[in-house]
Amino acid sequence: MRQPEPAAAAIPDALLAFQVPAAPRYRDDAAGKPGAEPRAVLAPRTTDDCALILRGLQAAGLRAAVQGGRTGLSGGARVRPGEIVLSTEKLLAPPVIDPIAATLAAGAGTALETAQMVAREAGLFLAADLGARGSATLGGMAATNAGGPLALRYGTFRQQVLGLEAVLADGSVVRRMGGLAKDNSGLDLSQLLIGSEGTLGIITRLVLRLHPAPLARRVAFCALASVEAALALLPILRAGLGPSLQACELMVDPLLTEACAERGLRQPFSSPAALLIEVTDPADGERFETVLGKALADGYISDAVLSASEADCRAFWALREGCSHYLIDNAGPITSLDLSLPIAAIARFLPEAEAICAGRARPLVFGHLGDGNLHYILAGKPDHALVGEIFALTAAHGGAITAEHGIGQDKVEWLPLCREADEIRAMARLKAALDPGWILNDGRVFTRYEGEC
Ligand SMILES: Cc1cc2nc3c(=O)[nH]c(=O)nc-3n(C[C@H](O)[C@H](O)[C@H](O)COP(=O)(O)OP(=O)(O)OC[C@H]3O[C@@H](n4cnc5c(N)ncnc54)[C@H](O)[C@@H]3O)c2cc1C
Repeated sequence: MRQPEPAAAAIPDALLAFQVPAAPRYRDDAAGKPGAEPRAVLAPRTTDDCALILRGLQAAGLRAAVQGGRTGLSGGARVRPGEIVLSTEKLLAPPVIDPIAATLAAGAGTALETAQMVAREAGLFLAADLGARGSATLGGMAATNAGGPLALRYGTFRQQVLGLEAVLADGSVVRRMGGLAKDNSGLDLSQLLIGSEGTLGIITRLVLRLHPAPLARRVAFCALASVEAALALLPILRAGLGPSLQACELMVDPLLTEACAERGLRQPFSSPAALLIEVTDPADGERFETVLGKALADGYISDAVLSASEADCRAFWALREGCSHYLIDNAGPITSLDLSLPIAAIARFLPEAEAICAGRARPLVFGHLGDGNLHYILAGKPDHALVGEIFALTAAHGGAITAEHGIGQDKVEWLPLCREADEIRAMARLKAALDPGWILNDGRVFTRYEGEC
C-alpha cells in the first residue's frame, strides 16, 4: 500500500544560492505536455555545486527533475508537481579538444551544435546529430543515449562517450575523464549512466570520441514505390557503398507531402515512400552514382535527384528535418511513438499497425531505416488504448517501445512489454542503491514500487 506523501520540507538555505527565476521555459516540453510549476529552479555551475545540492536534497527528502535542453520527447525532463528543477544550463565547462587523442571534453550543458562546431574548427568530426542540435545538450544526449541519422554508421551516443563525470543522487562523484580508448578497470559506471535518463545522477562533464572529418558528402533523394522497395534496397546500398554509407532516412507518404506544403519546401517528387541517402568521401561519389543507376534500372527506386553541391545536400536534409518540425509545430495534436523493430519485420508491421489505427488516428511515418527505427506518429486526438495496442504489436514483432527517445514518464506503464519483470526489478534495485531517497527523476523509466519488490 502506498503511503501518502509527507508535506514537502523547505529548501535548505545553502541551496538558495543556486536559485534562478522560475521562468516559463522550465515548464516547456517538446512532447507538447507542459510540466507543473517547479517549486524552485536551481542552476549549478560546477560539479561541486551539484554535489552540494544533491546532498542537501537527499537530507531534506526533496525531489528534483534534471533538465538539459528540454528537447526530449518522452517527458523525462517534464516537471512533476512538487519537484525542483535542476537545470544543467550553467554546466558549461568550455569545450577542449585533444587533437592527438581526437577527443572533445566539455560541460554537460553544452549544446550539441556548439560541440559540433568546435570539433569542425579543429578539423575533426563529432559523429552525433539531430534536428534539435541548437538546444539539445551533451548531458541530455548521454542521459537518453540519443540516436539520430548518424547512428547507422557510428552507433548511438553511447559509442561516442569515452568517459564522463557525474554526481550520483547521494552527492558522491564518479569521474572517468581520462579519455582512455581502452579501460577495463572495474565496472564501467559511465556506460551505466548513459541511457539512465537522469534517474541515477547528474552528468556534469563528458569526454567524447571524435572522428576524421569527412572530406565531402553527397546526398541522394530517392522516390520509391513502397516501403518494401526501401527495405529491399538496404542490403544493396550496404554492399555497394560499404562504410561510406552515412545515413539512410525513410519518409512515408503523406508525411513528406504535408510537411512540404505546410513549411513551404519544394518537394522534388511525390511518391509512396522517399529515401534520403548520404555518402561521404568524394572518391565514393562515382560509386554512388553507379549504385543508384543500377537501383533505378533494377526498379528499386523510381526516381532520384543527386546533390551537385553542399547547398543541395542542405536542401535535401531540410526536407527530412522539415518532417520533424512540421510534426512538432504544425500537425495539430499528435502522439509520437519511437519504435525499434527488426528491420525484416517492418514490411509486415506497417499494414497491421495501419489496420489498428483505422478510424482512430492517422499514422504519419518516418525514421532511420537502417537502424529499424520508425517514428510512428499518431495524428489526431490522444488515444491511450491505441498507443498500448501499437506498442503490443511492436513487441509481438520482437521490437522495443522506444529506440532513441527513452521511456521518460510517458512510457513507464508499457516497459514490461519489452523488458522482463526481473530486468525491470534489477533496474529499480540499482536506482534504489544509488538514490536511496528516490529524489532524482522519480516516476521516470520505472516506478518506486518496482524497487521495493
Ligand atoms: C526536432 C527534434 C528532433 C529530434 N531528433 C532526435 C533524433 O534524431 N534522435 C534522438 O535520439 N532524439 C531526437 N530528439 C529528442 C531529443 O533531442 C534528445 O532526446 C536529446 O538527447 C535530449 O537532450 P536534452 O538536453 O534536450 O535533454 P532533456 O530533454 O532536457 O532531458 C532528457 C532526459 O535526460 C535527462 N537529463 C538531461 N540532462 C541530463 C544530465 N546532464 N544528467 C543526467 N540526466 C540528464 C532528463 O532528466 C531527461 O530524463 C529530437 C527532438 C526534437 C525536438
